[in-house]
Amino acid sequence: MVKVTVWHETVPAEESEGVRKVYPEGLGAAVAAFLKVENFQTRCAYLGEKDDGLPEEVLRDTDALIWWGHGKHHLVSDETVKRVVEYVNRGMGAIFLHSAHLAKPFKALLGTSCTLQWREAGEREIVWAVNPAHPIAAGLDAHFTIEHEEMYGEPFDIPEPDELVFIGWFKGGNVFRCGAAYRRGRGKVFYFQPGHETYPVYRQKEVRHVICNAVRWAAPVSVAAPLTCPHAKNSIETLT
Ligand code: ZN
Repeated sequence: MVKVTVWHETVPAEESEGVRKVYPEGLGAAVAAFLKVENFQTRCAYLGEKDDGLPEEVLRDTDALIWWGHGKHHLVSDETVKRVVEYVNRGMGAIFLHSAHLAKPFKALLGTSCTLQWREAGEREIVWAVNPAHPIAAGLDAHFTIEHEEMYGEPFDIPEPDELVFIGWFKGGNVFRCGAAYRRGRGKVFYFQPGHETYPVYRQKEVRHVICNAVRWAAPVSVAAPLTCPHAKNSIETLT
């Protein structure tokens, strides 16, 4: 059974009023709930917990990490970033949702600023599967519509995706590489833009379908032992 950890920066009790209106159970819990329905072994992790919710024992027991963050990126410690990047390189999957484009581990994995254009006007987005043969697009039509979404637009300062799966079009005219896949070490990384916190995007079946597909795709085929270089002792910091 694929083990998923859903990381969110805010515990349910501290969600803003705007979020609670849409997700009374908390945004992280809402994402975890539909993954559980798909029979993934799912747990939630929160920023305020030990080691930012992602200690060694949690990462070691995670096949796919889902990350949603927005206003608290700066509170994630550099040690946590290093740990997450190390585990991705060793094989753990990582899926970054919506405003996690500025999450520290995402930027560390991609190596660019990951900045983009944005506008919050609740406009319609059409998500086009531009790589319909990709496992993350499996079972979807050529496109689906999200009635209200925050606009994220190009230019999006990311490296050329290893696999571009979706492009979003917004009513205001912007387009965006809204589903981009990467390989880092043995790990797989996927960025998926839909999911502004005050619109019920994670209630929508197509969006859930994409995230479930992404979890299956990102789950490791093989996981490496801690990465060390036998010819340069202590040259690489390793995790135990
Ligand atoms: Zn947003």
